[in-house]
Amino acid sequence: MAEVLVLAEHTADGEVKKVTLELLTAARRLGSPSVVWAGPGSAAGVARLAEYGAEKVYVADSADFSSYVVAPTAELLASLVASASPAAVLVAGTIEGKEIAGRLAVKTGSGLLTDAVDVAAGPDGAPVAEQPNFGGSITVHSVVKSGTPIIAVRPNAISAEAAAGAAAVSEVSFAASDAAKAAAISERVVAEKGARPDLTEAQIVVSGGRGTGSEEGFKIIEKLADSLGAAVGASRAVTDAGWYPHAFQVGQTGKTVSPQLYMAVGISGAIQHRAGMQTSKTIIAINKDAEAPIFEIADFGVVGDLFTVVPQLMEEISKHKGV
Ligand SMILES: Cc1cc2nc3c(=O)[nH]c(=O)nc-3n(C[C@H](O)[C@H](O)[C@H](O)COP(=O)(O)OP(=O)(O)OC[C@H]3O[C@@H](n4cnc5c(N)ncnc54)[C@H](O)[C@@H]3O)c2cc1C
Repeated sequence: MAEVLVLAEHTADGEVKKVTLELLTAARRLGSPSVVWAGPGSAAGVARLAEYGAEKVYVADSADFSSYVVAPTAELLASLVASASPAAVLVAGTIEGKEIAGRLAVKTGSGLLTDAVDVAAGPDGAPVAEQPNFGGSITVHSVVKSGTPIIAVRPNAISAEAAAGAAAVSEVSFAASDAAKAAAISERVVAEKGARPDLTEAQIVVSGGRGTGSEEGFKIIEKLADSLGAAVGASRAVTDAGWYPHAFQVGQTGKTVSPQLYMAVGISGAIQHRAGMQTSKTIIAINKDAEAPIFEIADFGVVGDLFTVVPQLMEEISKHKGV
């Protein structure tokens, strides 16, 4: 069975990110999953990959990955594509993942499919990617016709399923070319991370819009999110107004999320916002305007003033938690 390369997303201390397990689940449908690990190996990381069906783990322990931005990782993948001739390469559809995928596509003369929400083997065994387009109003199934199919898969779109794999480690010696060292990392600032889950990986996202009225009003979104153990998101109207940081913007020019539950509070549902959340499994909207477009895609909707509805909702949530 042909190998399918999966680029691991992991923390500096070797913890495997959830999206990598999702990619492994997709890779098993296409062939034999081989993980590509850029950076110092991690026994705990390899053990985790084994639980999700990795048959092989290529570990390239080079300081180049932490000293320079994405180019060395694209070079590493290109060299493995040349040596392993994989059936496909899967990367996380994160900002970094998509940049690596683009560079890899150029280096290998291959086709690239981004924003995939599902991947399956077609009748001839070639990977078929499912992609939502035009803000999710059209779904297309795409195949790559040239080179090695490279597919960037949205985090949270595919459920990670455990399956035992050998996870045999294969050490790869790697040194980035001078060209890949053009953009060096000069400083690292660790983002302050509260107790809330990461926006793109969270199972529940509570997003607030202009309907919250102000920076002060937006705090009700944080309270609701915390009562549910959710991540906080925001519409562009909110981030442009400076009520909440841009890093939390959901939509076409922000983050793409696909949680189990997405709550849109005081958000009208403009197409650019929908582009970033439409594939959420369940969508709940709270809006005082019954005609708001968000209700077209909501599974459940509450028409009402959010400053009345949300406190009542939090009261019910705390009753259920027995708090
Ligand atoms: C190129 C481009 C890219 C863009 N990218 C993005 C993007 O990435 N993400 C994004 O979000 N937008 C993006 N936008 C902007 C987008 O078009 C909308 O302007 C924006 O999403 C609107 O945000 P909103 O829904 O919070 O505000 P509004 O559209 O003003 O909606 C506010 C809603 O709150 C409701 N409301 C008001 N008061 C209350 C209350 N007390 N209780 C309950 N409901 C209330 C109103 O009925 C209304 O539906 C982009 C636009 C362009 C042109």
